[in-house]
Amino acid sequence: MQYRKDKHGEPLSILGYGCMRFSHKGAGIDIDKTEQEILDAFRAGVNYFDTAYIYPGSEAALGEILARNGIRDRVNIATKLPQYMVGSRAALDKFFNEELSRLRTDRVDYYLMHHLTDIAQWERLKNVGVTDWIAEKKAAGAIRNIGFSYHGNTANFLKILEDYDWDFCQIQYNYLDDTAQAGVAGLKAAAARGIPVVIMEPLRGGKLVNLLPEDAKKAMAQNARGWTPAQWGLRWLYDQPEVTVVLSGMNSLEMVRENVATASDAAVGTFTEPDFALIEEVKRLIRAREKVGCTGCGYCMPCPKGVDIPGNFRSYNVLGTEGRTAAWMQFVQTVGLTREPAFASQCIRCGKCERHCPQGLPIRDKLREADRALRPLPVRAVVWILRKFMFRRTKKF
Ligand code: SF4
Ligand code: SF4
Repeated sequence: MQYRKDKHGEPLSILGYGCMRFSHKGAGIDIDKTEQEILDAFRAGVNYFDTAYIYPGSEAALGEILARNGIRDRVNIATKLPQYMVGSRAALDKFFNEELSRLRTDRVDYYLMHHLTDIAQWERLKNVGVTDWIAEKKAAGAIRNIGFSYHGNTANFLKILEDYDWDFCQIQYNYLDDTAQAGVAGLKAAAARGIPVVIMEPLRGGKLVNLLPEDAKKAMAQNARGWTPAQWGLRWLYDQPEVTVVLSGMNSLEMVRENVATASDAAVGTFTEPDFALIEEVKRLIRAREKVGCTGCGYCMPCPKGVDIPGNFRSYNVLGTEGRTAAWMQFVQTVGLTREPAFASQCIRCGKCERHCPQGLPIRDKLREADRALRPLPVRAVVWILRKFMFRRTKKF
C-alpha cells in the first residue's frame, strides 16, 4: 500500500474503503463476508474507511467489525453528518452521538458535512451554529478533521471551499467527470489551499467498467499496458498529485485484491502521452453516444437568466450514455438543487450564449430538448419538494 498525507501530515492509504456497498444477505448486511473483506483490506494497509449516517446499516456494521477485531485505533473512520436533516443545534449533537454509538467509538477521524450542493446549505448550517459546534468537538477530540462531500457545480464548490478552514473535502471525480461537479478546477483549487481531496465515484459507480461501450472495452483490451478498465480509471486518478485517497465500494475479495494491487504500484506522473491518448479515445467513444456535443468549457456562461447551460447538457448526455435514472439523479443534484434556479426552462432565447460556443452548438434548441427529457412531472415534483426542504428558513442560532 502507498500513502499520501492529510493536512496534518498523517498518512492515509491511497485506497479508501467505501462502506456504502457492503455485501448483503437477505435484507441486511452480510457481516461475516464483509468482515473478511475489511480485514483483507486492513492487512494490505488500507487505513481509511468511509461510511455515512444514511447508508443503511453501514456505520453499525463497520463499528462491530472494527471492535470485534480490536482494530479501531489502527484505522481512520470517516463518516458524515446528514446536514439536510439538520434544523437546529440540538440536531447536530443528536446525529453525532448516534453515529458514535453505532460506530462504537468516542471520536470520528474525518467528519463530513454530507452532500453539499450549494453554499446556501453551508450558510444554513452556520446559521444553526455549526462552526462553534465543530470547534467544541475538535477541542474535545471527538472530531479530528472536518470536511464536506460535494455534488453541486464548480462555482459553488469554490465558494464553500473558501468559506471555512476545512481539513479535507470529498468530490466525485473520474476521467469522464473531469469538468463535472467540482471537476479538475475544484481538485486543483483544494490542493492549492493544502486541502487533501478524497475521491468518490472513481469509476462512476462501476459504469466505467460495466457500461463501457464495446469499442471502448476493446481499445483498452488491445492496449499494451494490459490494464483492466477499473485499473485505467484508478491509475488515471493516482497519476494526479492533488488526489489523496480514492474510495472504492468493495464487496468481494477479488475486488479488494485488484484494487490493492493497483494502489501498490500506481504513482504520480507515470501516465505517458499514449496513456492519455487512450483515455481521450475512450471518452470520445463514450461521448459518441451523447445527446449534445458540449465539452463543458463554459465559454457560453454566464447566462443572463441564470441557466446552467453546461450543467443541463451534462445531465442530458448522461441520458444517452447511462440511462434515465442516472441522468435524473445527476440533474437533480447538479442543476435542481442550487439555491438560484438554473433550469433550461428559464431560457428566453436571447442567443447570447450561442455567439460564444466554440462548438457552434444550437444551444437554445438543445436546451429545450434537454428540459423536456430531464424534467418530466415526477422529477419536477421531487425537485420542488427537495428545494422546499433544503432551502427552508432556519432560526438564527
Ligand atoms: S439563449 Fe437562453 S441560455 Fe442562452 S444566454 Fe440567452 S437566456 Fe441564456
Ligand atoms: S460554450 Fe458550448 S461547448 Fe462550451 S459549455 Fe457552453 S454549450 Fe458547452
